[in-house]
Amino acid sequence: MASLLTFPKGGIHPPEAKELTADLAVEEMVVPAELEIVLGQHIGAPCTPTVAKKDAVSEGDLLGEVVKGLGVPLHSPVAGTIKTLGMSAHPMRVSVPSVTIKTDLEAPARKYQKSDWQKVSKEDLLKKVHAAGVIGVGGAGFPTHVKLNPPPSNPVDTLILNGAECEPYITADYRQMLEANAEIVEGAKIILKILGINKCIIGIENNKPEAIKVMTEAAATGSTTEFQVSVQPLQVKYPQGSEKQLIQTLTGRKVPAFALPSAVGVVVHNVSTTKAIYDAAVLGKPLYEKIVTISGKGIKRPANLRIKVGTKLSDIVAYLGGVTPELSKIIMGGPMMGFAVSSLDIPITKTTSSVLFLAGDEIDSSPHSQCIRCGWCLEACPMGLEPKEIALHVEAGRPEDTGRFGVFECFECGCCAYVCPAKRPLVQFIRLAKMKAKNE
Ligand code: SF4
Ligand code: SF4
Repeated sequence: MASLLTFPKGGIHPPEAKELTADLAVEEMVVPAELEIVLGQHIGAPCTPTVAKKDAVSEGDLLGEVVKGLGVPLHSPVAGTIKTLGMSAHPMRVSVPSVTIKTDLEAPARKYQKSDWQKVSKEDLLKKVHAAGVIGVGGAGFPTHVKLNPPPSNPVDTLILNGAECEPYITADYRQMLEANAEIVEGAKIILKILGINKCIIGIENNKPEAIKVMTEAAATGSTTEFQVSVQPLQVKYPQGSEKQLIQTLTGRKVPAFALPSAVGVVVHNVSTTKAIYDAAVLGKPLYEKIVTISGKGIKRPANLRIKVGTKLSDIVAYLGGVTPELSKIIMGGPMMGFAVSSLDIPITKTTSSVLFLAGDEIDSSPHSQCIRCGWCLEACPMGLEPKEIALHVEAGRPEDTGRFGVFECFECGCCAYVCPAKRPLVQFIRLAKMKAKNE
């Protein structure tokens, strides 16, 4: 059998740890009594609130709009009353402006009717995606309507759907592919229509045979001469789901440093973002809930939950029966690229894919030591960077010199730190270097 496709440089094979939740169907979490919805959910400008204290809102109503700059509107995940316009804790920033809604727990869930997207022009489909507040839900939260409208100077010929889900523990995209495969393929066709192209490849790591099977069937059923959708199984190697690595794997094209995928004729969307595009274009449903994997030995009942944006970690923990005595660390996101959090007072955003409650034996807390110049970090880096040099320059107080070692090309995948025998916190050094070099 021919070997499976993957990217050519670096990469690692961390334990997958997906067995805790892979077979658990998505479960609707009970709506909490209160939601805290952060106004800055995406890359770009945060929303300006369109509601005031004591206003009544229905599910799907507008909460905020971007007045100036890059962004998308924000919607209410529930019916209820605006309690406050204040500040919330945020996993990556100290605190951020937010809207708190007191939920009307008696209100029925809003029903959405299907419409025929094929009768809608591509300009109007794009408007629907923007109006529904869709952003890339699998990563940084880039506004989707911008990605769907690449500059005419970069003609696009291929759409890639990212179903790799290479981070350990996370099974949210996997469940989405098992449970909403027809909608994802329909979403792919909507994107193809907007882009004016006909070729879509869905990349899925080979450790998800069920997802490959059902997505292949859905692609075969949903494809037409006008829209050709296919599935490509990929070798299991982290970070296979990173945009640049996925593009190189599937097309052989290398995205230049600091360029967007459209520079090589490609647009990439995550499978869950594609489902959100379907919801926007077919149902007119805004993006205000998420499938989130809650996993690790530190939570009593791991699960894949459909959660309203703005739900706090404390509500999730209570819903799942509490934490276990073994809990040692909480991470929002995956263990490779996520952020440790120290409070349960943090709300879920549109980009939260997982929250991990890890026990002591699931994390490596051994102390770090001096670099022994083994070169393993260089071999593991999928971008061909020199993480050891970046770290050494930060330690020596010269973070401004790290640009020549490619610090701004680093997307913080964590491969270098994972393989380092001296347990050096290379990603933390890199984040520090970026911050200081930017300030300079
Ligand atoms: S892997 Fe660690 S010890 Fe080896 S060269 Fe890189 S930083 Fe140094
Ligand atoms: S974190 Fe950055 S430097 Fe380290 S392996 Fe990933 S891309 Fe390379």
